[in-house]
Amino acid sequence: MKIDLHVHTDASDGTEPVSVVFDRAKDLGLDVLAITDHDTVSHWAASAEASERTGLGLVPGIEITTRAVFTGEDGHTHKVGMHMLAYLPDPTNVALVKRLDETVNSRIIRLQEITDRIAKDYSLTWQDVLDQVQVGATLGRPSVADALVANGHFVERGEVFEKLWFKGSPYYVPNREVPDPREAIELINAAGGVAVLAHPLARGYKPAHENDYPQAHFESLIEAGLAGFEVYHPEIGADVQPWLLDLTTRHDLIVTGSSDYHGVTGKPNELGQCTTAPEMLERIIDQATGSKPVNLEL
Ligand code: AMP
Ligand code: FE
Ligand code: FE
Ligand code: ZN
Repeated sequence: MKIDLHVHTDASDGTEPVSVVFDRAKDLGLDVLAITDHDTVSHWAASAEASERTGLGLVPGIEITTRAVFTGEDGHTHKVGMHMLAYLPDPTNVALVKRLDETVNSRIIRLQEITDRIAKDYSLTWQDVLDQVQVGATLGRPSVADALVANGHFVERGEVFEKLWFKGSPYYVPNREVPDPREAIELINAAGGVAVLAHPLARGYKPAHENDYPQAHFESLIEAGLAGFEVYHPEIGADVQPWLLDLTTRHDLIVTGSSDYHGVTGKPNELGQCTTAPEMLERIIDQATGSKPVNLEL
């Protein structure tokens, strides 16, 4: 049974509509998808339809943008963007929907600021960015990248990320007006969902020595109700997986694996590249009280 629990569509920064993603998943022999677009539930209805049409199981989800400020084991203050996967929350929960709306709106202002900064050096307008997305989609840097590609400045998304958004780049503005991970976990749990930390320590995290892992911070999130960690993900190094697995084992947490697919041209990640064990999905479904999976018998 092939289960991929983190997939994007054009409801946020994926390049393909839900129906295309499900067709591709079926062709690749997958059995279950969680569609987890950034900070929105606008993909849920179309996902349920595509699930019924293709016969694949669906776990409705959201990838919630958060920003953490914490003191690391190294004694330094860290400010980092963290993504929280929410599985099977009640999509009509007022507090959750309100916070997602706030995030989506703050993303627009932040993306306009990023666009203004880039426009000083490259031909780029806000309309160019809007032209890259479906109406109502959650905006993110990938839409800016797509606009720069469309304007002929770069060949693909990845090149823009590499060349414009390096550490300390003048073209980068963080997502500041978003919940911290603890608030996101509490919102998810109050909405009957299950919170799983997306791609922990991904993107080339290289601790100088073992003590540099943010153990106290992660344990504070577990205390706040974090249910699991996405240990298997194309961008998580094999070097950090043993530490994550040890943490999840000690706290008896859910371990997931997912592709973080963003469309064929969105990112190199392929559907089903990393997968989740059926018993772990069963734990997610058993814990959730907010909504039900679609077309799924384990
Ligand atoms: P944002 O949330 O606006 O800061 O944008 C981050 C998003 O950009 C992530 O969710 C990924 O989908 C995407 N992303 C990050 N790095 C890359 C990359 N190297 N190539 C393509 N997309 C990327
Ligand atoms: Fe994304
Ligand atoms: Fe993410
Ligand atoms: Zn993602």
